[in-house]
Amino acid sequence: MEKLLEQKKGILKKILIVDDEFIERAMLGAMLNDIYEVIYAENGAVALDIIKTSQQAFSLILLDLHMPELDGYQFLKIIRSDSKLRRIPVIVLTAEKGSEVECLQMGAADFITKPYDVPEIIRARISRSIELAEDSIIIHETEKDELTGLYNVEFFFEYGKRLDEQLYIPMDAVVLDINRFHIVNELYGRDYGDCILQKISNSIQYIIQNTVGLACRSGSNSFYMYIPSDKNVKENIEAYTEQINKAIGDNKISLRIGIYTDDGSKFDIETKFDRARLVCRQLQDNYGTCFGFYNNEINDQEVYFERLINDIDRAIEEKQFKVFYQPKYNIRGNKPVLSSAEALIRWVHPEYGMINPNIFTAVFERSGMIYKIDRYVWNEVAAQIRKWQKAFGVALPVSVNVSRVDIFNPMLTKELCDIILKNGISRDMLLLEITESAYTENLEHIVDTLNDLRSKGFKIEMDDFGSGYSSLNMLTSMPVDALKLDMSFIKNICTDEKAYRLVGIVIDIANLLEVPAVAEGVETKEQMEKLKELGCYIIQGYYFSKPLPPDELEKMLEPTKEGK
Ligand code: C2E
Ligand code: MG
Ligand code: MG
Repeated sequence: MEKLLEQKKGILKKILIVDDEFIERAMLGAMLNDIYEVIYAENGAVALDIIKTSQQAFSLILLDLHMPELDGYQFLKIIRSDSKLRRIPVIVLTAEKGSEVECLQMGAADFITKPYDVPEIIRARISRSIELAEDSIIIHETEKDELTGLYNVEFFFEYGKRLDEQLYIPMDAVVLDINRFHIVNELYGRDYGDCILQKISNSIQYIIQNTVGLACRSGSNSFYMYIPSDKNVKENIEAYTEQINKAIGDNKISLRIGIYTDDGSKFDIETKFDRARLVCRQLQDNYGTCFGFYNNEINDQEVYFERLINDIDRAIEEKQFKVFYQPKYNIRGNKPVLSSAEALIRWVHPEYGMINPNIFTAVFERSGMIYKIDRYVWNEVAAQIRKWQKAFGVALPVSVNVSRVDIFNPMLTKELCDIILKNGISRDMLLLEITESAYTENLEHIVDTLNDLRSKGFKIEMDDFGSGYSSLNMLTSMPVDALKLDMSFIKNICTDEKAYRLVGIVIDIANLLEVPAVAEGVETKEQMEKLKELGCYIIQGYYFSKPLPPDELEKMLEPTKEGK
């Protein structure tokens, strides 16, 4: 371990000696190879090849001028015109008086005259050129993240690669994400968010300080740890998690941790982290901290998701997506009255059969593709509303789901208006359901978008209300026309006094906002009666009907036409 720590502190810098004379290369190399990792090339072309294929950046190039194939002048020109390579300092090796000035003008950092005599002077000039170049790089890109003091992600991967190249020990990749960090910022302020990030990074630093491991912050709320493999990895991760949670000291904040353990497959650091990130992404958004390990099943699932993403355009073209309609009833009077419906998509995949939207909407939201599905549904629904209107003389409003991706589309209002216009229906017929968690993402923007939609006559329902993190404060400024209670509230309403009272509170909030409360997931008569008792009159759920294909829902419209 001592030796590894020594190496970690002083991972050798890499120098490239480019000279066609073997003896010159060897002499210079002998002066340097105890303090640098020295690589040799016999001409400019070979040198270019080495630099471009090397995983690890060179700290300096020592360049002879006269060589076959590609000489020093041409080589210098190429290096200096390449935006990535120009940062590597080049010291020219020359026996000719007079060529120094020309080389310095071409961008060489310094020159050393042949024959080489005093090794100390040569070493000093080399070290100084490297230092100068590093200083200038640091001015451009600092290797440490300012807030947390951990490496930034580029340097982290760079140093990780060096570790792999030099130590040859199995290393595990750990990705740690904070669940819904944007909400922490939104609700408690940025300073509080920053403080949490610092506490996490301090713990991480403490965890790796006596190992050869490295850590960085990636993006705003992800941390990566590259740590030596250990057969007790599960116990270690549990201990780390406990340590980090203790440091955070706020049980509202939970973590998601994805781990790739090195099984000797010799994957590079980037692949390992891709896999650990994948695990992290697939872990459910939990209230408590959870962790998971990469395995083949996860890989298979990812392949499946990729396949779904690839199939989406064809599926739309071939109308594999089917819109189902679940009725909502108004139960205020003695007899329930069909008042509207919710459009819910299904995918009848030629190979996988019926796929539930819970599976693919999450995948498409992550990839940003959800807008394609939503457009498709909105068009289908608008056409369906029109069709029913014509056939039965019934104007049945239908709600459609609007995902958070759509809200950030600047053309959203226009696209919806166009769909309405094209199908000749009124704007309040297409109700827009927006899940509560979307509201917490970028509140200001969402409020603006929804105000715009409402000013054009659209009605907004906040879906899954109670599952997200809206503060009461936020709610009062929220442009909504209905609150749709999260299904989990309804589940225990008959058996759990607290659940019953909670639903009462949510309905009070709806009353306060002067909007109706809608209950979904109502499966029994008892649940419906309890809701009515509490003042919730719009009911959706299996008690009345499952989501139905349009021709099934039509059967419910006919009696209305006949006025039954
Ligand atoms: P959601 O919008 O909250 O829809 C309600 C879900 O509850 C539907 O699941 C519905 O079938 C189910 N449900 C209704 N009544 C009951 C009941 O009594 N008991 C139980 N256990 N479940 C009931 P579904 O159709 O599987 O959709 C799941 C989610 O997928 C939806 O949740 C929505 O978030 C998303 N989704 C569906 N269609 C679309 C769409 O066109 N666009 C987008 N962006 N998301 C969609
Ligand atoms: Mg919905
Ligand atoms: Mg819902």
